[in-house]
Amino acid sequence: MKKILNYINGEFKAPLLDQWLDNYNPSTGKIYSLIPNSSTKDVQLAYEAAKQAFQSWSNTPLQERSEILSRISSLIIENIDTLANAEAIDNGKPLTLATRVDIPRSSSNFQFFSHAITQFASEAHESIGLDAINFTLRQSIGVVGCISPWNLPLYLFTWKIAPALAAGNTVVAKPSEITPMTAYLLGDICTKAGLPKGVLNIVHGLGNTTGQAIIEHPDIKAISFTGGTATGAHIAKTAAPMFKKLSLELGGKNPNLIFADCDYDKMLSTTVRSSFANQGQICLCGSRIFVERTIYDKFKIDFIQRTKSLKIGPPLDSTTEIGALVSKSHIEKVKSYIDLAQQEGGTVLCGGEYVTIKDHEDGYYLQPTVIEVTDINCKLTQEEIFGPVVTIMPFDNDEEALALANNVRYGLSSTIWTNNLNRSMFLAKHIQAGIVWINTWMMRDLRTAFGGVKDSGVGREGGQEALRFFTEPKNVCIHYK
Ligand code: NAD
Repeated sequence: MKKILNYINGEFKAPLLDQWLDNYNPSTGKIYSLIPNSSTKDVQLAYEAAKQAFQSWSNTPLQERSEILSRISSLIIENIDTLANAEAIDNGKPLTLATRVDIPRSSSNFQFFSHAITQFASEAHESIGLDAINFTLRQSIGVVGCISPWNLPLYLFTWKIAPALAAGNTVVAKPSEITPMTAYLLGDICTKAGLPKGVLNIVHGLGNTTGQAIIEHPDIKAISFTGGTATGAHIAKTAAPMFKKLSLELGGKNPNLIFADCDYDKMLSTTVRSSFANQGQICLCGSRIFVERTIYDKFKIDFIQRTKSLKIGPPLDSTTEIGALVSKSHIEKVKSYIDLAQQEGGTVLCGGEYVTIKDHEDGYYLQPTVIEVTDINCKLTQEEIFGPVVTIMPFDNDEEALALANNVRYGLSSTIWTNNLNRSMFLAKHIQAGIVWINTWMMRDLRTAFGGVKDSGVGREGGQEALRFFTEPKNVCIHYK
């Protein structure tokens, strides 16, 4: 059986205690590789390699650093078929999606930050009347920790690593234990790109052991984390007494507000995508759909028809639109929410059942599901399900739509469909979310700030925000009189 290895100090290494975890292929339900169950000792080894590499990497001329990151970006694209295949098998997502989105975006993350760091400027202020000049140095922090989830494995892993490295830090990183494969393959790419030994160290293992060891390490001074809200709260609590810098990108339960005056066809196609892309396992999916009452019945018919026509199948089949969910425990959790519908006064309008796929009988397949709800405070509308399940409900006016959108503990993203400029601006201003999409969904410009409010996290990633997070500002004041 294939063994995934840790990548420490530029070399692939088995875990020191020789303990391994099973890695499942979600499309077959079968174990297909083993991954290190890394201990505190492995994390310490990774930390020491990163510490050793820091002095040199943080002083590497910017142009050289930038060129290495750019080479990583190019090598990701050169290996797109291998990486996309690995991602589809490991995660269950359609290969077409991995090829079109996940892997190109992973490459763009490196390309973007290889340029962004060369444009990253610090501030200077002339303190008039005091005969002084103040300027701010933006210095690398040291060894930083990056921890990522399973839903967009390489995409989110590199979204952290690229700015951390660009800013001159060295990294101890842990991908999700559920989807370790492409992070493993990235190690080899980094070596080929000429990334010096120890600059990036990848340790595999469970959250509450390997991840916890990274969080608890007293000399890993900044942690960039993406994952669930409960994990984020635990990390914050652990890291706070050590005054670590934290970026926490957490869960979402995003509203999709649909008004009668929108471009209906564009809205319908995009809403199918924003509901079910990646089996609904994207933190940005619009899982709470609210529709203006005048078009509610029409929307219901059209949306159900489009949802039913989505092709469920094995990830490697090029016609598949809905692949497998990521794990057995996850599909069971998602199904348990669907099973709540009746008890919560909801109606399953379509989907709701497990699917058996020929030759993949033990895979984790679930029909995309639309549930009509009446109670805005029920679990189905309040808790993050993170699967191919959306709720729908009508509304009558802008104020009600806004109240429904904000009636949740999360605040990651939101989508508004309307051609009324005043309405869209009113809602964009008052909606409680870090991201507002108007007449689109998941259109990303890597220069923009990315992140959420409320229980969706603290801090922002993207562009200058990420480079600010991964550097420590130091004020220098010169009195010249
Ligand atoms: P998770 O919180 O279970 O795990 C995320 C990562 O944290 C994994 O690598 C895991 O091993 C690690 N981890 C778990 N416990 C840890 C601990 N005690 N110390 C350190 N690390 C620990 O989340 P998940 O199930 O992998 O991912 C799904 C969640 O991620 C959803 O809630 C989703 O909304 C969220 N997410 C958010 C964003 C965003 O940008 N806001 C993006 C993608 C996913």
